[in-house]
Amino acid sequence: MINFFQQLEHQKFCILVEYLTSSKTHHVAQNIASFSAFIAITDRVHSDHDMAPLEASQYYPESVDKVLHFAGKARDIQNFELFLRQAKASNIKNLLLLTGDKLKEHCHGQEGSSRTRYLESVNAVMAAKRHGGFNLGVAFNPFKYAEAERDAQYLKLHKKIKAGADFIITQLGYDIDALKQVKAFLKHHHYPQKILACVVPLSLARANFMVRNKIAGIVITPHMMKVLAEEKQAGLSDHVYLRCALQILICKSLGFAGVHLSACHKPEEQMLLESYIEQYQHLDLNALEALWSSLWQVKTGKEFMPELPYYSRQPTSSQLIKYQQLHFMHEALFESKIAKGIGRFIFKASFWEHKSAAKILLKTEFIAKHGIVGCESCGQCRLGDTLYICPETCPKGLANGPCGGTTLDRCEFGDRECIHSIKARLAKAVGQTDVLKENLISTVPVEVRGTSSWKNWYQATET
Ligand code: SF4
Repeated sequence: MINFFQQLEHQKFCILVEYLTSSKTHHVAQNIASFSAFIAITDRVHSDHDMAPLEASQYYPESVDKVLHFAGKARDIQNFELFLRQAKASNIKNLLLLTGDKLKEHCHGQEGSSRTRYLESVNAVMAAKRHGGFNLGVAFNPFKYAEAERDAQYLKLHKKIKAGADFIITQLGYDIDALKQVKAFLKHHHYPQKILACVVPLSLARANFMVRNKIAGIVITPHMMKVLAEEKQAGLSDHVYLRCALQILICKSLGFAGVHLSACHKPEEQMLLESYIEQYQHLDLNALEALWSSLWQVKTGKEFMPELPYYSRQPTSSQLIKYQQLHFMHEALFESKIAKGIGRFIFKASFWEHKSAAKILLKTEFIAKHGIVGCESCGQCRLGDTLYICPETCPKGLANGPCGGTTLDRCEFGDRECIHSIKARLAKAVGQTDVLKENLISTVPVEVRGTSSWKNWYQATET
């Protein structure tokens, strides 16, 4: 069996063909054109109740190496540990660890129901690294067009790499400049991780579906829709596969290790794609890009960008003042030697083990912090690592950075600005981007939720 990760390490361009667990597929290509093909099995893309990737993996030939997706939506660290043990028992070596898009049945936790939790990709990578024996992939979305959301994506990519990611797979997108930027980023920081680009043969019907359903993090512009509609009317439907072949060849020329090919698992689709790859693989990067641009009717270079109401924003003065005040208080009350000594002394008393004392303390902390930062009593306060913006105010509860689903700084849930864009903007203004880049924030254990973070903090500090 050809080993997917070795293929990456030996710089042999490859194609990872995505299969949804909701559709049973029996045809599996081992090569597309002259490139080795592997299997990627998705996690709950079609519905929240799709078959688990591990279970689905047994329906595919053992002779083809696989990459299993694990999405953190509605999962906690225990679920993930179990998944790791089962994956190991099934001899699965390659994982793509994602936070995942919004759970279709997401629950905000109103009226006593429990809130849907998301295991962050950074925490999943950390846990899998501790386990050992896996090649770990992470997702990255370079198709961000407002300054803060782009910064937030790259800051989180630093963390994913620091946590132990071995390879990267981009979100689906058609902006070649954005793909070039991520390659330049890896080179600039001397990161050796190999990167694959996600590609999809984009038909008018598919583009319409993505726009209509507002698929998180995917940019399809009105210009692209116009080109696809004109092509369809002119009977040029084969351009869908020609364009996909060109994007694959461009990625290869740019030094990508391969592509993650979605929505192209039928033999007839792959044969068409293959024929175009073979027809154009002799072209150099300039010629490929020229052909790509002419097919997309590119004139200004901005055809793949959404319309921008703004590019850059400054934090508001109240955000800056709040940060300065909370930072001062945090340093004085939680970080200083004297505060730690006093806190340790106070919380050493067995008195705090009484139910009523613990309840009063928890209530006091909640009242003191909920109105100011939106505290939800997670029990493991992470404010010092998040520039005093509580991670619980992110609907997915993400602490290490954003998911890939923002649109021009707006949260995937659509009802607020993404807190990670606010953080990135603030970090730049107060010279604290290293905090967002370096500090890996561990996941909150289930048993810690609903306890006082004050007590937990001082009890955990060392003498
Ligand atoms: S991180 Fe946890 S303890 Fe700190 S403010 Fe947010 S919910 Fe409260």
